[in-house]
Amino acid sequence: MDTVLHYTDQYVFDSVYAKIWPSYTAVNNATGAIVSSWPRDDFWRINTSVFAITCIFGWALYLITATLSYYIVFDHDYMKHPKFLKNQVRMEIECALSAIPWMTLLTLPLFTGEVLGKSMLYGGMPQTVGDWVYLVASVPAFLLFTDCGIYWFHRWMHHPKVYKYLHKLHHKWVIPTPFASHAFNPCDGFIQSLPYHIYAYMVPMHKYLYLGMFSFVNFWTVMIHDGEFISHSSIINTSAHHFVHHVYFNYNYGQYFTLWDILGNSHRQPNNEQYDKELRDDHKTMARQAHDVNKIEGALNKTKTL
Ligand SMILES: [Zn+2]
Ligand SMILES: [Zn+2]
Repeated sequence: MDTVLHYTDQYVFDSVYAKIWPSYTAVNNATGAIVSSWPRDDFWRINTSVFAITCIFGWALYLITATLSYYIVFDHDYMKHPKFLKNQVRMEIECALSAIPWMTLLTLPLFTGEVLGKSMLYGGMPQTVGDWVYLVASVPAFLLFTDCGIYWFHRWMHHPKVYKYLHKLHHKWVIPTPFASHAFNPCDGFIQSLPYHIYAYMVPMHKYLYLGMFSFVNFWTVMIHDGEFISHSSIINTSAHHFVHHVYFNYNYGQYFTLWDILGNSHRQPNNEQYDKELRDDHKTMARQAHDVNKIEGALNKTKTL
């Protein structure tokens, strides 16, 4: 993030801030341009810039990947499902676009800490074979650690005393489209992103790799909502697994792998209702799933604590 901030300062923020808050006493020695009275290393300027970068990057990544996935990958026959809501796509987009700035705000101290060098992120070119091995090994380590963290946070948010306040909004989309990927309560999104930051503050990781993994995580989140079930893997938490989570509720809390669901006794392997397109688009299958969802929702509503 510090490198991103350096370049955005150079090409965007220096001139933007110079226009809004110009310095009447100083100019850029190299170009003669007016500079801002708000210096680059000011704590509040860093926070403002990091907020703008993260929010705009988050919106752009969400809109581009979800739109491509919606038009290229998503099975539009799912929109005939009785649990698919009227105007659902518009509601998902509105929900996600309004959640991203609040989620960014909640995460801002952690991002700013990373910019100010308070985390374990490091830079520079790997010098030795050991450095390269460590860099490569960081990928599975990051995925395994964050998968475990997300599993437990997600499972905790399904607890009846917590669910209604944090996670219920994301389950409004029983039949999710790729636009549902970021359509949640901002506190829900923030909590589920905590494992990434905990890792960055606890374990040394190359900052460019971290940035790449952070982008990958956002892609993955869209992909597990894409409604096209290609992989039959029982190890990877695929879009079919996450579809089962949205429909049958208390299964498949994981993000990338099924490991913690298997260990936590919450794994449910998708079946032909997901993998066989003819069967999954059959109105009898959809009616049966809707009946199951109504039963689950009825049981949830009966829980006094909800
Ligand atoms: Zn859930
Ligand atoms: Zn989901």
